[in-house]
Amino acid sequence: MSSDPYAILFEPVTLGPKTAPNRFWSTPHSSGFGVEYPDMQATYRGRKAEGGWGVVFTEATSVAPESDKVPYFLGRLWDEGDVRNSRRIVERIHEGGALAGVELEYHASMSFASEGRLVAHSVDPVAGEGPLPIAYAGTAAALHVSDIARVQDLHVDAALRAVDAGYDLITLHCGHAASLIAHFLIPYYNTRTDEYGGSLENRARFARETLAKVRAAVGDRAAVGLRLGVDTLDEPFGLGERGIRHNGDAPRFIEHLDDLVDYWDLIIGGVDWGQDAQSSRTARENHEAPYTGGMKNYTAKPVINVGRLNSPDTMVKVVKSGQADIIGAARAGISDPFLPAKIREGRIEDIRECIGCNMCVSRSNMWNGRIICTQNPTVGEEFRRAWHPENFDGAANRDRAVLVVGAGPAGLECAMVLGKRGFEMVHLVDAAEEIGGSLNWVTKLPGRQEWRHVIEYRELQLSKLKNVTTILNTRLSVDDILDYGAEIVVVATGSHYAADDVSPYDRRPLDLGDFRGNVLTPEQVMSGGAVIGERVLLWDTDGYFVGPGVAEHLAAAGHQVTAVAPASSFGPYLAYTMEDSRIAQDLRALDVRIYTSAGLGRFGTDTATVETQAGSVEVGVDTVVVVGQRVADSDLYRELQDRQAEWADAGVSGVYRIGDSLRPSFIADAVFSGHRLAREIDSANPAEPLPYIRERRLLDASETDFTFDGSAQSRAI
Ligand code: SF4
Repeated sequence: MSSDPYAILFEPVTLGPKTAPNRFWSTPHSSGFGVEYPDMQATYRGRKAEGGWGVVFTEATSVAPESDKVPYFLGRLWDEGDVRNSRRIVERIHEGGALAGVELEYHASMSFASEGRLVAHSVDPVAGEGPLPIAYAGTAAALHVSDIARVQDLHVDAALRAVDAGYDLITLHCGHAASLIAHFLIPYYNTRTDEYGGSLENRARFARETLAKVRAAVGDRAAVGLRLGVDTLDEPFGLGERGIRHNGDAPRFIEHLDDLVDYWDLIIGGVDWGQDAQSSRTARENHEAPYTGGMKNYTAKPVINVGRLNSPDTMVKVVKSGQADIIGAARAGISDPFLPAKIREGRIEDIRECIGCNMCVSRSNMWNGRIICTQNPTVGEEFRRAWHPENFDGAANRDRAVLVVGAGPAGLECAMVLGKRGFEMVHLVDAAEEIGGSLNWVTKLPGRQEWRHVIEYRELQLSKLKNVTTILNTRLSVDDILDYGAEIVVVATGSHYAADDVSPYDRRPLDLGDFRGNVLTPEQVMSGGAVIGERVLLWDTDGYFVGPGVAEHLAAAGHQVTAVAPASSFGPYLAYTMEDSRIAQDLRALDVRIYTSAGLGRFGTDTATVETQAGSVEVGVDTVVVVGQRVADSDLYRELQDRQAEWADAGVSGVYRIGDSLRPSFIADAVFSGHRLAREIDSANPAEPLPYIRERRLLDASETDFTFDGSAQSRAI
């Protein structure tokens, strides 16, 4: 018997004709690469295989041009061109020793099909209405029974192309209320009165027939499974009794189709898939177990569970308790592609744990952008910048002493990477008594405690780097820096919220008129010690988590909070991280009064006028909290630049700034900024980011064009 407590996670699992080498399953998730950026996609997914994930899926993949979610960037398996690009993706996954999986989907009435201007079909036999409140953009044609076989065959053709590309696993998506198969199953969508509507057997008929056709077509060349949303949740976050329930239709559906699948990938939630991919603000590890946990009782096939599964101990419990056979995860593997390898090697403390911030998700939700990660700045850079999350080459100038001023997220990351690149002496100096910078107060906001992993991971890595010294309680002046003996100086002094917010909406400072109460910034509220009146007016032009977080913090402490925002929602970026609905519910429960699309009018000594679209409202105010614009703390950097003439005598060859002191932004951007500088510290001019490989259609291209030495790329290395 093995003494390794995690050995069970590395047992192979049989999936029909295929065998996964272990129980780590990188679930389908959007990257923003599709098949249009094949090398970025291939290297991104291949890295997970290299890191030990036994199964690596790409992302939701459209089966035909009429099922197209443009502008959202998903996978496609429409033609031979998509097969060719997919082959490279599969090859990279196989090179890492993993099985390659693809999740096929006919998006139904979620197909905008705007690229080809084609018409998708919806389960609705008559009206063809879409489930999304976006009017014409979300409509589809009614699917007559005579057309059902054709749409099923689109799945078969895509499955055959998947096999041709080399995929080992083919999942049909029946979750997130995102596909035609799911819409047939869910009563909310399926109002048919023919043999495809009504009873569970009828609603399952489309899935059963499609699965049977796909299996017959691919034979033993691929395992076939279903990704099933076992509970579409209570209203207001879900569909209530008109949806699928884990103690209702879901187990019966599993039993009904069990003979046709090789595995079950189980999730929760409906079209608001943020209920499945909940952030750490509202969901703890393994939060889906109450829904998915009992489903193994209804199947003889391996079951995959997800739900912020980060800790190896929890993973072992999930398997040993019989909750699931396989650990599914997207975010844990984005944050640390080498999570399985680190568990296998007993390096648990080296895991770069996902903080559950959903910044990764926000990019595709917001801009259809490429994936990024707060914890792992190498995500998305695997191909175009050739960054590896674990491997660092020795810097050409590593004999130079480096001083990093500021131990917030950017400074910590920069010092860590410089240390890993072999610099002989890196000093990380901060005026505060602890590392972490702004994260120290940010992580006191309700539900943001897990964000401390950003600090903790780097703190532990730094403790292993004997060439990096952290010095706290030390505020350095320009003279101190020039006398320090460092040849390279990195300024990472962060940013602060301006108390006299210059609104991005009207470019004028906040006019507090006759107000006699006090005015605070979020830092002052959260750092403790500030006098805060009973009646708080919170003005938010920041637009993300800080405004709602401070409002919740104060309301929970008994203050009467009125929040005013010029945006159409309170914290609009929270919609992209899919946290908006639950945070709004929590604020309502705390009686926070919220005015959006609103402005501030005249202030009296202890009153403020809120200008809403319905007219003016006067509120009593003792304290104003301004969650407005952030200002870079760049005085130190500017003064160093002003004294550039003294650098040579001081032995300083370069001064650079990173993170918020360069540009106040997301924590992910601060970490990236620190990482980028450290990766390129030995370039000709580290202040200027090196060009990256641009993957795009290039006329008369050769493969060499997509390398750093290629003539089509401008990078000089
Ligand atoms: Fe986790 Fe945040 Fe990274 Fe997404 S962006 S993987 S939620 S740490």
